Amino acid sequence: MLTGKTALVTGSTSGIGLGIAKALATHGANVVLNGFGDVDAAKREFRDIDAEIGYHPADMSVPAQIADMIAYAERTIGHIDILVNNAGIQHVAPVEDFPPEKWDAIIAINLTSAFHTTRLALPGMRARGWGRILNIASTHGLVASAQKSAYVASKHGLVGFTKSVALETATAGVTVNAICPGWVLTPLVQKQVDARAAADGVDIAEAKRRLLAEKQPSLQFTTPEQLGELAVFLCTPAADNIRGAAFNVDGGWAAQ
Ligand code: NAD
Repeated sequence: MLTGKTALVTGSTSGIGLGIAKALATHGANVVLNGFGDVDAAKREFRDIDAEIGYHPADMSVPAQIADMIAYAERTIGHIDILVNNAGIQHVAPVEDFPPEKWDAIIAINLTSAFHTTRLALPGMRARGWGRILNIASTHGLVASAQKSAYVASKHGLVGFTKSVALETATAGVTVNAICPGWVLTPLVQKQVDARAAADGVDIAEAKRRLLAEKQPSLQFTTPEQLGELAVFLCTPAADNIRGAAFNVDGGWAAQ
């Protein structure tokens, strides 16, 4: 279904980005991966998938490296048809104690990077008459939690950015939407599970149960595979007129 398309998924060496990249590749897209950590392990996930896979190590907090990544994608794999702005980090602390350098990094990686990838990839999508921009925001793009001021600000910003660019592209063949997951058990959340277990003096299973019970009424984690299938759906013709939406995939979290 996505054969002949090229997708760039930022932060796709792990977690949600990897899940979305695999789903897009499974449906035929060639994919440019990005992110840190065990790149070879991430690439191995695509062994049995018939798609071309590239990788660029751009640090999403550095605009010049983002520009290099876009150029690399176009040079080696193809024009970017599907852009998934997924790279993201978290830091949990009260605002008075929030390290300013963490604030800057979160805003740069979670929000500003999407501006740079979008401004660089959108002209080609417009010219070719088709494109999909998927911004991986969060339930924290819609509602807040304490101690996550930078993250909540970045994700509310990303949802706002999504709406604005969706309006600018409303008559183009390019759609722009946000996906807002609740808890997904990835390395980003495992750190919070571990911190909760230590703070409450409970085991990991109980810490997971408590995190879910506090926010996510379904008491189930959303999976990267579920988010991947939503991303694929948003690339189908059925989604041609879905523009500027923010999809909660949060077990009822934001409904409360
Ligand atoms: P993760 O830690 O598993 O993956 C994050 C990815 O981003 C990794 O590939 C990492 O290498 C990459 N990355 C981090 N800093 C980077 C940088 N400076 N430049 C390039 N790549 C960088 O986390 P995840 O849970 O899969 O999160 C992915 C996205 O989903 C994030 O934007 C996160 O905010 C969002 N999200 C996660 C959850 C959750 O519960 N896990 C919920 C809602 C939203």
